[in-house]
Amino acid sequence: MRYCIEQTRALAKALLRVLEMIGMKALVLEQQMKLSLREFKIEETLGDGDVEIAIKRVGICGSDIHYYTNGKIGPFVVKEPMILGHEGAGVITRVGSDVKHLKVGDRVCMEPGIPMSFSKSMKEGHYNLDPDVRFWATPPIHGITRESVIHPAGFTYKLPDNVSLAEGAMVEPLAIGFQAIHKAQIFSGDTAVVTGAGTIGLMIVLAALTQGCRKIFVVDISAEKLAIAKAIDPRVIPILASNGNESIIKEVLLQTNGQGAEVVFEASGSAAVNEYLIDLLAPAGKLVYVGMPSRPVSLDVVKAQAKEVSMYTVFRYANMYERAIASIAAGLIDVKPLITHTFAFDQAIEAYEFAASPSGPVVKIQISLE
Ligand SMILES: [Zn+2]
Repeated sequence: MRYCIEQTRALAKALLRVLEMIGMKALVLEQQMKLSLREFKIEETLGDGDVEIAIKRVGICGSDIHYYTNGKIGPFVVKEPMILGHEGAGVITRVGSDVKHLKVGDRVCMEPGIPMSFSKSMKEGHYNLDPDVRFWATPPIHGITRESVIHPAGFTYKLPDNVSLAEGAMVEPLAIGFQAIHKAQIFSGDTAVVTGAGTIGLMIVLAALTQGCRKIFVVDISAEKLAIAKAIDPRVIPILASNGNESIIKEVLLQTNGQGAEVVFEASGSAAVNEYLIDLLAPAGKLVYVGMPSRPVSLDVVKAQAKEVSMYTVFRYANMYERAIASIAAGLIDVKPLITHTFAFDQAIEAYEFAASPSGPVVKIQISLE
């Protein structure tokens, strides 16, 4: 009898799950280099602590482009069709019965990585390092370039009235910039170098400026990207990398009384920059790795020891969303100039084709579902 009840319950649950299979239009990476914009069925149930969000903006990240062009990032391989995108903002359409801080109609942005266990990392507050973390658009987890998503309310943040949905979708990359400056513990009056003027490099620049950085050298091979960096603030000093390593070192030393910078942030993911990063640092300087090189890099350890360089690494972020949103709302950070392109949802495939081989000054490309 008891067995029978349990079986019936299981059957009812399964049936309910089928009913909850939500069909919606989505941008799907079918396989490497093959995208389609089509109807997609997703199994998502609104739990008591969840909210449902109508997606309005999604940024295209370097990782999305990488999955599109290469079909994998390190151990993460796209084996089944996967919806791309993890930098999102939208409007709440449903709330679970336990949700107190959000209501239908609220404009929100969402943190894409959800820790799944009471691991050591989770308990210590480094939930980004939880071994079972589920992160949008990282196989096999679907992303959010789609009409709606169900997400834990605890990882969903209300946007203040003066922060737009487009800015809300920039909070995700900005959180990485915040994680980087948190690691570096920058102080007012410090000088920093950022290698790589892509979205993440520029987010580090924005975050470092809020800490009172005196000068920030930005190194990149693209003059167009450097021009965007320069326009952020007069304290930004662009350095064109194509003039060679020696000229980069010379420029930084010349403008720091021969001392070098207190902090170097690596945000290009280029393996080659490691040939000169230590040369840019002042004694007891800090080196923060944010970019992800596609192959192992070699580093002159003795050179680093002679300066007692401290090294840090950054993997996504933890506890940075509220700070990032508050900084935008307070006018401390302006992410708007970095949103260089916006495509309509119907043009999502074109957006990715453009992102994979961009022309002209491009920083952040967003897809609008508004
Ligand atoms: Zn991203």
